[in-house]
Amino acid sequence: MDLNRRQFFKAAGIGLAGASIGALGMAPAPAFAEQVRHFKLAHTRETRNTCPYCSVGCGLILYGQGDGAKNVAQNIIHIEGDADHPVNRGTLCPKGAGLLDFIHSPNRLQYPQVRKPGSNEWTRIGWDEALDRVAELMKADRDAHFIEKNEKGQTVNRWTTTGFLAASAASNEAGYLTHKVVRSLGMLGFDNQARV
Ligand code: SF4
Repeated sequence: MDLNRRQFFKAAGIGLAGASIGALGMAPAPAFAEQVRHFKLAHTRETRNTCPYCSVGCGLILYGQGDGAKNVAQNIIHIEGDADHPVNRGTLCPKGAGLLDFIHSPNRLQYPQVRKPGSNEWTRIGWDEALDRVAELMKADRDAHFIEKNEKGQTVNRWTTTGFLAASAASNEAGYLTHKVVRSLGMLGFDNQARV
């Protein structure tokens, strides 16, 4: 074999490096696949939902541990865009992609609270009590302030002293029904969290 000077030093250097690694015990051992690593979402429960952040309304799949039994605590471990959703087709913006932090945030409000008149503290109440209280207060305010006719005697049916803020995670159908209920009560102050 004919080698010029440059080729000779190159071949000698490679051989020396290989011999040194072997002699020092640094050569990697042969790798064998001992077991198949489990797919981390294999035993999770999938729930479809809508991103709560903005009016785009991207579809989500939430992956939770727990089989849904009453005595099993659910724990959501992964969220990704819903590839079957017509709005986002599996994609999420950085806000939506970070929803796991939002769900597990210690500051997240998970139950109704009330701050009674004159108090500076919030008290936890049950959902039934909260919904009854909202209904009673809405009725009392509407009975007291509903405007049936304006100063010209024209029928206006306005209720201007209470407002309503709807959720951006609502579906089209839920949004349509919410709008119908709010307007049928005569309420004018109506907005959606998606615009915030
Ligand atoms: S993922 Fe981003 S774009 Fe989609 S609804 Fe959420 S905040 Fe809006």
